[in-house]
Amino acid sequence: MRKERPKLLFEISRPGRRAVRLPENEVPETEIPAGLRRKKLTLPELSELDVVRYFTRLSQLNFSIDTNFYPLGSCTMKYNPKLNEATSSLEGFSGHHPLTPMKFSQGSLELIYRLQAQLSEISGFAQASLQPAAGAQGELTGVLMIRAYHTHRGDTKRRKMLIPDSAHGTNPATVTMAGYEVVEIPSDTEGNVDLQALKAACDDTVAGLMITNPNTLGLFERRIEEVTKAVHDCGGLVYGDGANMNAILGILRPGDVGIDVMHFNLHKTFSTPHGGGGPGAGPVATNEKLVEFLPGPIVEESADGFRFHMPKHTIGRMKAFHGSFGMLVRAFTYILSNGGSGLRELSEIAVLNANYLKHKVSEVFPAKYNRTCMHEFVSVGKLSDRVHTMDVAKRLLDYGMHAPTVYFPLIVKEALMIEPTESESVETLDEFAAVLLKVAKEAEETPELLEQAPHEMPLRRLDEVYAAKNLVLRAQDLAEVEL
Ligand SMILES: *Cc1c(COP(=O)(O)O)cnc(C)c1O
Repeated sequence: MRKERPKLLFEISRPGRRAVRLPENEVPETEIPAGLRRKKLTLPELSELDVVRYFTRLSQLNFSIDTNFYPLGSCTMKYNPKLNEATSSLEGFSGHHPLTPMKFSQGSLELIYRLQAQLSEISGFAQASLQPAAGAQGELTGVLMIRAYHTHRGDTKRRKMLIPDSAHGTNPATVTMAGYEVVEIPSDTEGNVDLQALKAACDDTVAGLMITNPNTLGLFERRIEEVTKAVHDCGGLVYGDGANMNAILGILRPGDVGIDVMHFNLHKTFSTPHGGGGPGAGPVATNEKLVEFLPGPIVEESADGFRFHMPKHTIGRMKAFHGSFGMLVRAFTYILSNGGSGLRELSEIAVLNANYLKHKVSEVFPAKYNRTCMHEFVSVGKLSDRVHTMDVAKRLLDYGMHAPTVYFPLIVKEALMIEPTESESVETLDEFAAVLLKVAKEAEETPELLEQAPHEMPLRRLDEVYAAKNLVLRAQDLAEVEL
């Protein structure tokens, strides 16, 4: 049964209804100064129960990890353990003001110090800074550090950053923001960087390379050491996009294979919530070449305890105060609760789960590259001239499964990118595979069912281009939109 569109706050509002009563005013009323308010505010008027029901129902319309399977490739939508919420809500962390003097902040500083050390150890680097607020901001941080490094040495000819054509869109955006020019490197027939093309592009105008390993096709970059060596040989540095660390924890350390600086997405690899669930965190870690360029403050240990420190040639701050501290507490909890061998095991299970699923659906959704995958794989979702990847994705919603990532990476036409993560049981994977095969059967027998999907969601197929071009950002305007 299709769920009804819920009534909006403005539609259930009744004049004079209210949730709270303020105490009698003890101070004289004044007018709001002219010009501060453009027009009269119209706010919905509701009882407390109206508000509770409205937001509870709204939350029930969401797909979430806590309610549904969420195999969104590249995003690593793994389970967010409730233990992380318990520790980050501890009064000593959640109630601690960032301006509290250092001597009264030793516990929080120690947590930052130990997380810096854990991330450095996991990735094989000398030092981490927990400042950046997202993976994309970590990228910008790393590329600004690379730029500062070249500038510091008086090497100002380097204007180009090399990026494989399978890269995430944030990589070229980062390069452009950092004032460099993007040079695209093609992939070879195995889905890895084309080494010949890379070598041909390396010269003394290259500042560096940004590379993701495993890459966004879910494939391990087999000749990673030759790749990083080619860049180092021409004087460039290598940035590692760490969004796929989930696949290699405890197995491979990027610092050991020639990466110079990388970011972590704590909301992917270390189970802190994504998007609407809260702010992100994208710490960066680096080797000795770039340590003094890290953003600060970072925490160091001294005879008087833990204290903040600014690296000598720091690129400055990337974020107010000390990063997304609540997320740091959650990631720290996750690392400690798994331990070293536990982290390795979860990467092994992430890879096993992806390969299991890839095999189960391969007859109908063959992987684009026929290799053992890492934590995710990319198939082709187009099933016929009529049924495209988007139709498959929309139909999955009717079966209570979040759609995988679609139409990314860009080098695979009609891409369907699936990442089950280590959180899921074999039963869930079997159920998902069965649904995918069922949808493929429907595509043959009743293609119109897929073309018009979803059928059972509160809203049907939306015109996403229209929605993006005609943003409606206020709830009271939404009531007038025909859905
Ligand atoms: C998610 C992702 C990013 C960007 O990270 P955010 O934390 O979303 O800013 C960059 N590269 C890859 C490969 C990613 O999957």
